[in-house]
Amino acid sequence: MMDPLVERTLAAVWHPCTQMKHMEQDPPLAIAAGEGPWLIGTDGRRYLDLISSWWVNLFGHNEPRIKAAIKDQLDKIEHVILAGCTHGPVVELSERLAALTGLEHAFYASDGASATEIALKMSAHYWRNLGRPHKNRFVSLKSGYHGETVGALSVTDVALFRDQYAPLLRSSVQLPTPDFRLAEPGESAADHARRCAQALDEHLAQHASTTAAFILEPLVQGAAGMGMYDPLYLVLAREICDRHDVHLIADEIAVGFGRTGTLFACERAGIQADFLCLSKGITGGYLPLSCVLTRDAIYQAFYGDETARGFLHSHSYTGNPLACRAALAVLDIFAEDDVIAQNRAKAARYTELMAPLAEHARVRHFRQLGMIWAFDVADTGADFAARFHRAALERSMLLRPIGATVYFMPPYCVDAAQMESAVQSCVALLG
Ligand SMILES: *Cc1c(COP(=O)(O)O)cnc(C)c1O
Repeated sequence: MMDPLVERTLAAVWHPCTQMKHMEQDPPLAIAAGEGPWLIGTDGRRYLDLISSWWVNLFGHNEPRIKAAIKDQLDKIEHVILAGCTHGPVVELSERLAALTGLEHAFYASDGASATEIALKMSAHYWRNLGRPHKNRFVSLKSGYHGETVGALSVTDVALFRDQYAPLLRSSVQLPTPDFRLAEPGESAADHARRCAQALDEHLAQHASTTAAFILEPLVQGAAGMGMYDPLYLVLAREICDRHDVHLIADEIAVGFGRTGTLFACERAGIQADFLCLSKGITGGYLPLSCVLTRDAIYQAFYGDETARGFLHSHSYTGNPLACRAALAVLDIFAEDDVIAQNRAKAARYTELMAPLAEHARVRHFRQLGMIWAFDVADTGADFAARFHRAALERSMLLRPIGATVYFMPPYCVDAAQMESAVQSCVALLG
């Protein structure tokens, strides 16, 4: 019998990224509660949340310290307009993010796509304020993903999300991606990165006078199916953007907050972006919040007597105090639990546990970075992602393959026994 909640959701809720008719055959999982890495269904069944509830959850569901911070803030002030007002949580969060990234100024919104919009607008407006209004075009990578609002979709290269809206989008250029699955036979990941960087250099040599910024996902192209690449590409991209006077926007919405093994992915290449976009894990998966951090030199180009020279962009919930408190609790947990070092040990151990998958006859391009594991499956047939998703649920795992790519991006609290049983279940599913 169908859970009454499922019937009601099909009638009243328009679900994201979904053909609603398919949901009648493939009903949504009705969730009543969460506990650590587990989601608990309304029927009492438990599912291991191996995708961190769409990459947002960091420390598990029902995390006591994040909950306590939100509850404490709830008794003080839930929200106040940030135009003309300020409050402790937003100030402290901005100071701490500045100290962690070296980017001194923080602008807030509520979700990832809005952070992309802000970075694009800020970059173009910066050049306008400098008397170079023709620098207003954007460059991104093939298979890149930066969100699905109209501006963000213009720099996103995922056909399924983009094609129906193509007439609404501003044209932008997508350059070869350093994703090492695309390396030529015999070419190393670093050589492939070097070749792709050369394509960027050649493009900007022609078009820098009309280009405001180059936007990328550092180290891992998430929506492309966890396409990973050599950090050398970031080093070269930074140098190339500097040489051509083009901003570098690092979209760390998915990879920020420790996913790739360092707090921020750019750290691994030792580079600093001009704009750093953060969201998803920023509140540990508790509340919607996003942030764009930038350098003082960029901020100074907006500073002056004229109102129109300022960055006149806003969202109603900008700098929401509850969300900022959740984010501060997340930063506290990173420090108190020494999360980055703990994860380094976990990642090494869990990668060993993955051997049966890495060596499986149907697995191609097994890859790992920090707390992300992914592999491509050969000979999948039609509807692989939907079938694998359903079969995984039967085995108490929430997984959502992207095309033929299966990935694990679990909350950091997942333990070795849970990972080992997930590996065994996946091996069984691959046959
Ligand atoms: C999820 C994601 C976004 C968009 O964030 P939303 O909160 O879904 O709008 C942008 N960029 C990257 C890299 C993402 O993974």
